[in-house]
This record gives sequence, C-alpha cells and structure tokens, in this order.
Amino acid sequence: MSRLLPRVLACVLAALAGGLAAWLLGGAAPARLLAGVACGIAIIVALDTWRGYRLINWLRGSQEGEAPRDAGFWGELAYRVEKSLRLREQTTARERERLAQFLSAMEVSPNGVMLLDGGDQIEWCNTRAADHFGLDPQRDRRQRVTNLVRAPAFVAYLQQGEFSEPVEMPDPRGKGTLSVLVRRYGDDMKLVLSQDITERERADAMRRDFVANVSHEIRTPLTVLSGFIETMNNLPLTEVERRRVLGLMAQQAQRMGALVNDLLILAQLEGSPRPNAEGWLALKPLLAQVEADAKALSAGRHTMTFAAAPDVQIAGAQSELLSAITNLVNNAVRYTPEGGRIDLAWRSLPDGRGEMAVTDSGPGIAREHIPRLTERFYRVDGSRSRDTGGTGLGLSIVKHVIQRHGGELDIQSEVGQGSCFRLVFPAARVREMREQRPVLAA
Ligand code: ADP
Repeated sequence: MSRLLPRVLACVLAALAGGLAAWLLGGAAPARLLAGVACGIAIIVALDTWRGYRLINWLRGSQEGEAPRDAGFWGELAYRVEKSLRLREQTTARERERLAQFLSAMEVSPNGVMLLDGGDQIEWCNTRAADHFGLDPQRDRRQRVTNLVRAPAFVAYLQQGEFSEPVEMPDPRGKGTLSVLVRRYGDDMKLVLSQDITERERADAMRRDFVANVSHEIRTPLTVLSGFIETMNNLPLTEVERRRVLGLMAQQAQRMGALVNDLLILAQLEGSPRPNAEGWLALKPLLAQVEADAKALSAGRHTMTFAAAPDVQIAGAQSELLSAITNLVNNAVRYTPEGGRIDLAWRSLPDGRGEMAVTDSGPGIAREHIPRLTERFYRVDGSRSRDTGGTGLGLSIVKHVIQRHGGELDIQSEVGQGSCFRLVFPAARVREMREQRPVLAA
C-alpha cells in the first residue's frame, strides 16, 4: 500500500495540474474535469512507459551496472529483479567454482579420468587420460571416443557393456600397457578410469624371471647332488672314488649355500631402511679385512697392491660395505688369470666425494655387456662364473649397496685391457680424520 501511495498522490497532482491548465484555458466545468483527468493519466502513462523502458533496457543489457533506481513501484520492481539476479549470479559463481575445484581434483588424479555421455561422446577428460589415450582435451570434446581410441580390446569392452572387470589394452602411444575400468553413473553416463601398468607388468615379469632363475640355479646343483647320491648308493666305489665324489658333492652344496647366502643379502638390502648417514666407520680396518680375504682367495696367484688406506671414514653399514668391496675384489681374483695384477685404491675427489677403485689386468668385458652386468644372474661367461663359485648376484649386490649409500657404481672395461670397478661415495658420507695435535700449554 505504501508503494502505491506516491502513485495515487501523483495521479491526484496530475489531475489537479490538468484541471488548472483546462481552467486557465477556459471551458465548461465537466470538460475541464475530464481534461484534467486525461492529462493526469497521460502524464502517469508517459512516466510509467519511461521507467518501464529503462528497466527493460537494463534487463536486455549485461546487467553489470545498477538497475535504474526509480522511486515507488518501478524502483521496488527494479530492486527485486536486481536482487534475485545477483543472488542467482552468486549461486552460479559458487557452483562454477565448486565444479572447477572438482575438475582440478580430477586433474591431479594419478589415474586418467574421462567422462562419456550416453552416446560415448567425450564430455571431459583430464590431462593424464588425454595422454594415455592420445587425445586433445579441448579439440576432441563431444567426439565419439571409439572414433579416436580404436584399440580393439577397448572398443569391444565399451560395446559389450560388461564393466565388472578392467580391460587391458596396448598403450596407443605404443609404449606399454593400459588398464581401463568403466563405471556407469547418472543417466547412462560413463566414467572411464585408465592406469599405466607398464611398470607393474615389467616388475611382474622381472619377479617371474627371478623365480625361474633361482629355481634353475638351485636345481642344477641339486640334480648333480642326487646323481652322486644315487651313484654312491648303487655302485661299489673305491676309497679314492668315494673321496672324489664326496668332494664334488661338497662343492655343489657350497654352491647352493653361496646362492642362498647372496639371495638373503639381496632380500635384506631390499627390505631394510637406508644405512644411517651418521654411523661413521673407519676405512682402514675394513680394507684390511678385504685384503686378507682376497689374498687367501688368490693364494699367491696374483700380484696385489692395496694402497695404504688413508684415515678416512665412511658413513654407512659395515656389513654392506664389506660385502660390496669383497665382491669386487673377489671378482677381480676370480676372473684375472694367474700372474695378473689386482689393485685397490681409495681416492678423495676434489668435490669431497670419495672413490674406491678395484682395477685388474683380467680379460676385460665387451662394451655391450657392461650396462647389464648388475642385472641379477647376468653373466658374460656362465661356465667361468660357475666354475669359480659365482652366483651371478655379486654385482647386483654391489649396485644395491652403493645406491643405498647414495653413491654409484662405475664400470670401465675393454676386452683384453682389464677392468676397473669404481664405487663413488657422496661427499656427505665421506670424511677425512685429520691427526689431532696435542694442545701445548703456554
Ligand atoms: P658372478 O657371480 O657371475 O661373478 P657378478 O654379478 O659378480 O656375478 O658378475 C657378473 C658378471 O660380470 C660375471 O659373470 C662376469 O662375467 C663379469 N665380471 C664381473 N667382474 C669381472 C671382472 N673383474 N673381470 C671380468 N669380468 C667380470
């Protein structure tokens, strides 16, 4: 009612003004009254049209500025319309922000995420899904996915409509394997999740190969042992033969023992935390032990030099370091023919790192084998390795140990030129112990 009052007042004023104008111009009283009312109505209609026009103009525009701030009825109408528009704008902005947050969460997902509509057209996909399927998230929107991803396994999976299990398909980039899982949602929409399982498959294959290799390595000496046991059971052997057979049996048992030992070391290396960076060990006693073992293994067949170990300390695990260095030196002894040279030397590098180099004058290794030497059971010459008690695991143990200490294994070798295996330790794990001078009293 309060909003109508100004209009009623305006009507009365307009009628009075019209009446006054008609009276000034002269004429009969009813005619003057009629003219006054008509004039008043005309003024009100004109005013309303003007105000209505301004509001419609504002509504037709971008509505960025304020709505016309008229008084009374039109002002109230403009205010209410503007308020409801602003409210809706705020709600839309909030929804849009929520959607953007949701999409950015999907964007950082480690898996590929793609949304398909009822006709299998791409509604949206994150960068990873685009990468997995070789799509362009913008350009390929609204495209039928099977027109773009043509891997038969994927197309059949989508067409079949049975999504309880994921499907595996070759990576369209030709790099490996993808696992794709579809879930239905909403009105026949589909959520497609993709995962790159190349690494997992590689690890599975490696595990299978490893188990097969271990079984093979154990079966060989076992077969030999059972053969000997059968021989001893069935044949009357002379004392000399019996001793020889027992010697060979002991050799095979030792071989199995060495293999199991190396397997245990590897398992331990893989399953335990990195060695403490604060546990400092003196290098000297460590090398003294390696030297004694190497000399016993060589039994004087090689010329060996162990450069006097400086007062260096290494932060690490004693048993692991001993195992790594012993493996390198034992390899040098085992592969270097009689009369050859074997040198072990420690060098502190200018950048603070330290390296332990084991050099031999043995047969050397062809270039193509070098990158594979640290693979488990990789041997350049299988029979030479086995004959000398090798398990094929030595260098993979060495690599594991040095990596756990933050360092690296470098192998330089050429056929006929000998080999050099270097363990390089990071500066943070090496320190030199300077001789403490006694402080003299003044
Ligand atoms: P293995 O027990 O067979 O010695 P490793 O892992 O220690 O296993 O070494 C892998 C292969 O690298 C060996 O089989 C051998 O062919 C080669 N190799 C290792 N050290 C030397 C070396 N000092 N000189 C020549 N070949 C070597």
